[in-house]
Amino acid sequence: MASFSPQPQDISSIEVSERMMKKCEQQDFPCINVSYEDFDRICAQELCAPIRASQIVNECSFCVNIPVNEGLSFGDLKTSDYLKGLNKKIGLYHLWIDYDECEDHDTNTLLCVYVGKGFAKGRIMDHINKKYSNLTKLDTLFCSFYECSNRIAKYLEQLFLDLYKFESNENENRGASHLFAVWNKQRYLHGTEIQLLADIASRKDGFGRIVESCIISDG
Ligand SMILES: [Zn+2]
Repeated sequence: MASFSPQPQDISSIEVSERMMKKCEQQDFPCINVSYEDFDRICAQELCAPIRASQIVNECSFCVNIPVNEGLSFGDLKTSDYLKGLNKKIGLYHLWIDYDECEDHDTNTLLCVYVGKGFAKGRIMDHINKKYSNLTKLDTLFCSFYECSNRIAKYLEQLFLDLYKFESNENENRGASHLFAVWNKQRYLHGTEIQLLADIASRKDGFGRIVESCIISDG
């Protein structure tokens, strides 16, 4: 019986190109050396102490993943517990949803859906209650926060709005491209607040041990 088989050189050239391409490149979002070129250039021109976008979205000292679906929360942790570290803090915050995962570089890529500024805790709570509660398709909302004065936060928020498009920002959002963050596994899975959350959970009903064991088992 006759059967078709591809030319040997075709197979090998495909295999070589697939070996050379990392997973994130095949999925159209290279996760290494992410460029925020326009943001960084404008900031450098306009601020005497410029801030890089990557400092704000990838290296900030506060980030959490908040289970919007309450069934996924540890113990009795409430949304406000996840944001407790933001009490009375002013700055710039971003809300993110999952976008992609790259096993080759051990990273997760997030897509930004909202940028805001001011007293972050109350505003994020308000935003989650109005827009993200009871969404069956969304289990987790990620939140990052960059602390700065309200005046600088206003500037940074406007620059993000001018350059990027956010599905949940309705006003003054002239930007067109998507804003992505790339986080390592530790930041993605546990955020920066895991110890605080473990303390809160253990005081509530003993669920702190579960959170603690997550930290240990994931290194
Ligand atoms: Zn990658």
